[in-house]
Amino acid sequence: MRTHWREVALLATLAGVLGCAPTTDPPSLADHRLDDPPPALSHRPGAAGIGDPDFPTDGNGGYDVSHYGLVVDYVPATKQLKGVTTIKAAATQGLSRFNLDLAGLKVSGVRVDGAAAEFSRNGDELTVTPAEPIDVRSRFTVKVTYAGVPQAEKDSANLGTYGFVPTPDGAFVASEPDGSKTWFPNNDHPADKATYDFKITVPAGVTALANGELVGKPTTAGGKTTYHWRERHPMASYLATATMGKFDLREGRTPGGIPETAAVDPRFKSALDKLYTVSGEVTDYWSKVFGPYPFSSTGGIVDDFAAGYALENQTKPLYGGFAPDASIIAHELAHQWFGDSLTIKRWKDLWLNEGFATYAEWLWSEHKGKRTAKAIFDELHAQPATSPIWAYPPGRALPHDLFNMSVYTRGAMTLQALRDAIGDTTFFKLLQDWTAAHRYGHVTTDEFIALAERLSGKDLSKLFDAWLFQPTRPA
Ligand SMILES: [Zn+2]
Repeated sequence: MRTHWREVALLATLAGVLGCAPTTDPPSLADHRLDDPPPALSHRPGAAGIGDPDFPTDGNGGYDVSHYGLVVDYVPATKQLKGVTTIKAAATQGLSRFNLDLAGLKVSGVRVDGAAAEFSRNGDELTVTPAEPIDVRSRFTVKVTYAGVPQAEKDSANLGTYGFVPTPDGAFVASEPDGSKTWFPNNDHPADKATYDFKITVPAGVTALANGELVGKPTTAGGKTTYHWRERHPMASYLATATMGKFDLREGRTPGGIPETAAVDPRFKSALDKLYTVSGEVTDYWSKVFGPYPFSSTGGIVDDFAAGYALENQTKPLYGGFAPDASIIAHELAHQWFGDSLTIKRWKDLWLNEGFATYAEWLWSEHKGKRTAKAIFDELHAQPATSPIWAYPPGRALPHDLFNMSVYTRGAMTLQALRDAIGDTTFFKLLQDWTAAHRYGHVTTDEFIALAERLSGKDLSKLFDAWLFQPTRPA
């Protein structure tokens, strides 16, 4: 994510389980009499959270989702959404019941493996009790039918408005950190990634854009058009989008041959060619610097909702109400590696996303013969000891101030300090080895530090401690 106003502020400055809850031993059956009914003791409720202590009710425990099949019908004029979500999952414990995350909207039915299931709502938790308990390690399918007027999340993570945001001609859908529950039931935490199919029906004339690539051509019948998009690589729920509205499109391939889709609200018509060209150039360049592009298409969307930020939605970063410059495009597309392909298990490690994407902005500047990353670092390091970025250690992002400037700027400075310590050759090999080792998977700060030490043969504990974990300006 990149906050547009933060970009302005920064320039001014410069100018001057996971998955599963810990398992407990099953209750003892020793005193169970043989003529008792078969014991269901190995089945117990799945946890209401996935285990992120900073976001205790985000995501859920007891299962791991492999695929979401979303069917969404949306009418911009009435803001009415009708949805059917089919979730394929595997139980990581015996489940007597389990939760999904869903905010607002009315659920009319839930089926588990085809059989009607009981369900209840409590806040943003949808609790499902299947007719038969689910055995550990077994695969199951959940189908949830729901409808209503989606309500965006507001201000709960110093982010403004996020989730499913209705616009006059459609919807702007950007869900970091936990806004996908505003439009479909899911395991809403990055620790559980899955593949997606999106079948989105809108009034004819409206374009629906989701992650991945189109499956076949859109079909129109009865004044409605249905778009089928498929993201066949694992994706965190916060990166899922179904952005709809009037759009001008440009489609093709990057010079390096990666399929590309750029889309702009007609208000930003003049930005379409630049968005397309720069996104293609950046995707190709990062593919050399960070390793092979992890997904099967690239691009970007500019919508007219003035979110004031951009989000790195997988394969299609979304820019909220402004024409992005090359620096922000470089940031969002760097996230395709750092955040989207390599995904954090816990939000406290957010610098692994934002520090890297911010450093990519500096690398882009350096690549273009403008200021070097080192020069940007030096100017930031010269900030007075009273600057707020020194008081906020970026290696532990705080839940009430997740997207603090330090996570971005001091996170990026950490990488420059590391580059200085281990040299360019090892540093850039580290970036490539990092993205290769964890492609489509999950990452932690400890894993990054361990790889940096292994590749460099150096003890880097003091460097990382000073830059990531101390509330003072590193020397
Ligand atoms: Zn970002």
